[in-house]
Amino acid sequence: MRGVFAPLPAFCVMVFLLIVGLLGITQPVFAQSGKDPVISNLRVGQHPDKIRLVLDMSNDLSFTIFQLPDPYRIVLDLPQVSFDLPKTARTRSVGAVGGWRYGLFEPGTSRLVIDAKAPVKVAAAFVLPPSGDHGHRLVLDLAPTDRNAFMVASKASIERRMANRTPRVRPTPAPNPPAVPGDDRRVVAIDPGHGGVDPGAIGVSKVYEKDLVLKVAKTLKAELESRGGYNVVLTRESDVYIQLRERIAIARRAGAEIFISLHADSIDDKDLRGLSVYTLSENASDEEAAALATSENKSDIIAGMDFSTEEPVVTDILIDLAQRRTMNLSTRLANTVVEEMGPRTRLLNRPRRSAGFAVLKAPDVPSVLIELGFLSNTDDEKSLRNAAKQEQLAQGLADSIDRFFVGMQSARR
Ligand SMILES: [Zn+2]
Repeated sequence: MRGVFAPLPAFCVMVFLLIVGLLGITQPVFAQSGKDPVISNLRVGQHPDKIRLVLDMSNDLSFTIFQLPDPYRIVLDLPQVSFDLPKTARTRSVGAVGGWRYGLFEPGTSRLVIDAKAPVKVAAAFVLPPSGDHGHRLVLDLAPTDRNAFMVASKASIERRMANRTPRVRPTPAPNPPAVPGDDRRVVAIDPGHGGVDPGAIGVSKVYEKDLVLKVAKTLKAELESRGGYNVVLTRESDVYIQLRERIAIARRAGAEIFISLHADSIDDKDLRGLSVYTLSENASDEEAAALATSENKSDIIAGMDFSTEEPVVTDILIDLAQRRTMNLSTRLANTVVEEMGPRTRLLNRPRRSAGFAVLKAPDVPSVLIELGFLSNTDDEKSLRNAAKQEQLAQGLADSIDRFFVGMQSARR
């Protein structure tokens, strides 16, 4: 058994982790090495008394497991690996296992999140050495249990994890660009939604939202910086998961004057298509907007985040704190984007909407969330995958940002 669960109470480590977590000090910029160990397959079998998952691994890897309720999730953390699973193993429903997601959780840690439709227990977890045609295999057996037992095991697993986590020495964040004397560039934060273990929406041709929005974000950054006068900060530059509140923290640390979150989502109505722009509101403008915010806000849940060790997110207070000015500027930015994009790309009906998106809750940075289109719509998906279209979107957004700042300057006079 290689899952290491030493029961060492390490209160100061927990406090340190809490502080690090609250400050949100993570380094989003890093490269995934081609030398990472490879997970080449995930096989799942239903047995009379259990569901067995087997991961084929290139190396003998250590792992930790914890479990989270509501919804029931089993989270398997590995060292940073490269997932190279066949399409058939990407996700599937097998008995009580409703599906799974995997990817980079943070630099150094890759994660597999298994969704369970009912309470399950980890009956066994071990690594088998190579034999015959097989290399190293991680075996995970899940067996039925009841909610009470799940909750008890969940609590214990989280405590073990906290006690065992070695605080990483995190790189010092780069100095805030505006602090550099003489640098009077506008700081713009662009937030490519999702990433790593959270793929976001999955398109009709199986394209991932996380990959599309990263491409558009990078194109927009290049476009803005080529125009001069902008310092563009991306909340992520690679396929890594970033917590929602950390996205806001990155923007604020960089001294961003505006925050633009890029998404491309999926909805049951396959005919729905077009771009839409959202601002934060306690009361969603309509049911579609409310449903969308609910699904976007699930990012942290999807990625298997454990919030039991964090302060509750005080959303209502944050909304109250949001200054009138920030709200007004967000609205102005959103309207500008709609006006600029309208002639260039297809818009959703009533493209200016609002809802309670967690990622828009910076009290002092005007923020908008743009749904570039719907990956559930064949035409939208095809268009968003097209590099020329991505370039066109980036130009339109850059024009919107230009116009927004020109308007702010004239308002100051
Ligand atoms: Zn999204």
